[in-house]
Amino acid sequence: MIDWIEKAKEMSFDAAAPLDPKTLIAREDVREMCAADKCHTYNKNWTCPPNCGTIEECQKQMQGYTNGILLQTTGYMTKTFDTKTYQETEKRHMVNFRHFAEEIRKTYPDALCLGAGGCHFCKECSFPKECRFPDKALSSMEGYGLFIIHVCRDAGLPYYYGKNSLTYTACVLY
Ligand code: SF4
Repeated sequence: MIDWIEKAKEMSFDAAAPLDPKTLIAREDVREMCAADKCHTYNKNWTCPPNCGTIEECQKQMQGYTNGILLQTTGYMTKTFDTKTYQETEKRHMVNFRHFAEEIRKTYPDALCLGAGGCHFCKECSFPKECRFPDKALSSMEGYGLFIIHVCRDAGLPYYYGKNSLTYTACVLY
């Protein structure tokens, strides 16, 4: 049997911990932050709200899983506005998460993989035309209404790793 925590560490995530799907709560107020459209993907991407399902549908879907894993990637900035570290940490997280999602879906094809930010698999999402790669599309924790600080707390991982740190968090339910 595969130890997914070990696997995550082998795949260069900085931290990984088991996550109980029963602790997850899809929140309307988190969805409202998506609706503010700071990412410019609200109702423009299949994996972002409102297209990833209603808050009730997201909650029901998450509660249908038995196991989960929380995955984190942390970078440390060397100055106040360290764009390079932001970009490098985000890229490392995205690449590792996609790789992890592909691996776990070989064992659990229905695994729900929720990253940081919506799907960026295509340069431009085909929405509202049909998704080009439904088996590659990845939604986000925020899109599912998850308040990341609480999810980290409930899984026993820090949300913040101290001065000058920035952390990207994702989860997989299986
Ligand atoms: S795979 Fe492409 S078309 Fe489908 S949700 Fe992702 S970006 Fe959009």
